[in-house]
Order: sequence, then structure tokens, then C-alpha cells
Amino acid sequence: MSERDPELFGAITAELGRQRDEIELIASENIVSAAVMEAQGSVLTNKYAEGYPGRRYYGGCQYVDVAENLAIDRAKQLFGCEYANVQPNSGSQANQGVFQALIQPGDTILGMDLASGGHLTHGAAPNQSGKWFNAVHYGVRESDNLIDYDQIQALANEHQPKLIIAGGSAIPRQIDFARFREIADSVGAYFMVDMAHIAGLIAAGEHPSPFPHAHVATTTTHKTLRGPRGGMIVTNDEAIAKKVNSAIFPGIQGGPLMHVIAGKAAAFGEALKPEFKAYQKQVKANAAALADQLIKGGLDIVTGGTDTHVMLVDLRPKGVTGNIADKALGRAHITTNKNGIPFDPEKPTVTSGLRLGTPAGTTRGFGEAEFRQIADLIIEVIDGLAANGEEGNADVEAAVRAKVADLCARFPLYPNL
Ligand code: PLP
Repeated sequence: MSERDPELFGAITAELGRQRDEIELIASENIVSAAVMEAQGSVLTNKYAEGYPGRRYYGGCQYVDVAENLAIDRAKQLFGCEYANVQPNSGSQANQGVFQALIQPGDTILGMDLASGGHLTHGAAPNQSGKWFNAVHYGVRESDNLIDYDQIQALANEHQPKLIIAGGSAIPRQIDFARFREIADSVGAYFMVDMAHIAGLIAAGEHPSPFPHAHVATTTTHKTLRGPRGGMIVTNDEAIAKKVNSAIFPGIQGGPLMHVIAGKAAAFGEALKPEFKAYQKQVKANAAALADQLIKGGLDIVTGGTDTHVMLVDLRPKGVTGNIADKALGRAHITTNKNGIPFDPEKPTVTSGLRLGTPAGTTRGFGEAEFRQIADLIIEVIDGLAANGEEGNADVEAAVRAKVADLCARFPLYPNL
């Protein structure tokens, strides 16, 4: 590629350099193994395989069937489930697949609102889920920013949803799946868990499982689960599994991405190993250390901390907004994303918060000591902003960038690439 397409090669090489030289704190990202990348770069990308293993619409599927069956079997083991569909091309398509399988356009769905930590695909207005369904939303309690199960019950009683969704993109505390199922049962709704963010923690026993409570669970495969970009649906209910299979293919997708499915098989194999449990424990310990040190540095953490891999930093004690903070941290080679906090007084393009997560840094090898150091670096940059306004303090940012470079050099990324 370097000779045939130097422009593209340059972009990929530069991205490798960026990942090597910057501290990645985006909670939805991770760093996959060489085996996962090898699978994705394999000849499986050439193969059409519409249908499911043993029931394909194309010839020559005997080897991709092996890969897909490995992914399915490993997924079932990881989540203690009878059925897995590993074909969704993304988490969004996994959610669409469940909607197509279980509900009709115009039906009522009840999910968490975006501003409280939900996901676009849970009924947000600009998303297909918000356009095609009558979406009703629950949030968090203003007094403690925790999920208010009594509010969910009251909304379920009032709106009689066909489907209730638990899970989201910025939920730092454990979710009570049993309580959700009670609420769903009380109104005869299906209960779906979107475990995209916490799937790796669940697979390792570091967060309660959606099962036996959920009728069905969806996930991305690239966040805490540390696989290729993609989605998956798991369930213990045979009738739901059949409907889900038809919804994914031929309902919303055509030929599955067999190279990505092979990458999922590779990642799930890794997730079944004891090292993965140790990794997820460290993800949580690192998140607790990062949150604690940020609080010591004068920032607030929504709900006072985290039980998971993710936290929401409330920047208001320093008088700084999320959009300015994530740019300044970016200049210092610390990658984050601005994020609204519950009841945020700022616009979504500004925000009062940052969302931080530890999955990628933990894969790199950072422990609690490194995450405490990272918290100190974040505070230095934000104090520079607080003192100097939007421009920040260039000297402080340069000094932090040098410390980031030292830290990254101590934990080399993809040394063999
Ligand atoms: N569900 C949740 C809870 C997510 O956080 C995300 C991604 O951020 C998705 C679904 C969508 O996944 P994808 O980006 O693969 O479509």
C-alpha cells in the first residue's frame, strides 16, 4: 500500500502514530489484539454468505460457516445464552434488528433519554427509532442522578410500552435488571438490555448479567468487549431468536461481514480466557482511581464516582465547559469527548461535562498509579483553561504533552506493527 496508495497509507500510518502517542480516554473505544486485526484483514472479506451457517444462499461457505459457528458458540458461552446472532454490522443495527423482530411501527417504546445517558437508537427524535416509534423516555433523579425506577414504573403504567430498553452510553452505575423486568412484566412489555458499553464487564462477571431478566440483549462488540467494530444480539428465547434472525437477514441486512465475524470469534475466544477477567477487574479499579483523583483535584463526578468503566466529569466547579476542555486536552494529547451531564444548563454542542473511560488505557497496560497521574494531567490542563480562558495555557499544555509522551513510551502500543 505504501507504494500503490501512499496517500491512504499515510493516513493509516498517521492514525497508528496518534494511537501510540496519545492517551485514549474515550469510554466506547478499545485496542484490539493482533489476532482480531488479522481476522479482519483476512480473505474472509471476499466471501458472500447470505443466510446462516448451514443455510446459506451462496456456495463455498464451508469455511466461513466454521468461523461464524465459532463466534456464535463463544458468544453463547460468554453470556450464558442459548442463542446468538453475530451478524449485525453495528450496535445500531442490532437494536434495529430487535425492533423489527418484536414491535411494529407506531408502537410505544420506553428508553433512557439521551441527556441522561441513553443512546440515539433508544428513541431519540432524529433517529429512526424516534421517527418510526412512539418513543417515551425516562431519565435520572435530579437529587442523585441515579435511575429512578419508580418513574419508569409510572411511565410504563401511563404509556403501556410494547418494549422497555435498559442501558446507554454514559451510565456510570450498575443497572437493576430484575427491577426493569418486573416493570416490563407489569405492563406486558418486552424487556431489552442494550449492554453495548458494559458487555465486557458482564462477560467477565464484573457487572450483573441481563439474564435471566432480559427477553433479549444487544451489544456492540468493540467497546469493553474489545473486539472488531460490530454488533450482536443474544437471547434465551427460541421464538425471539428466530424472529431476530429473520429481522437481521433478510430484514435489514444482506451479506454478513464474514471477516468481521471472524474478528468477533477471535475476540470472544480471548474474552473466555482468565486474563480477560483480570483485565475487566483492572478496568473498574482504574476507573475508580481516575474518578477519585479527579475529585481530589477539584472536579465533580456525576453520582460521586463509578461502578463501571465510565464516568461523567462535571466541569462546573472549575468554570469550564466540555467543548473547550476536550479541545485543550486534545492539544495535550489526551483524547476525550465532551458530554452533557444530567440537567445540563449548557447546549449539547457546549456541555458542562466530559465522558471518560478506562478500557483502552487498561488494555495498554496502565494501572491505578498511571490513571492517577492521568487525572493530575487533566487537572493541570483544565486549571490552565480556568486561568486563561478558551485559549488555555500553551506552556502547561506543552508540558503535559511531554509527560503524556513519556507515559506512552513506557507502554508501547502495537510494537510489532
Ligand atoms: N448502544 C449503545 C448503548 C451505544 O453506546 C452505542 C454506541 O455508541 C450503540 C448502541 C451503537 O453502536 P454503533 O455505533 O456500533 O452503531
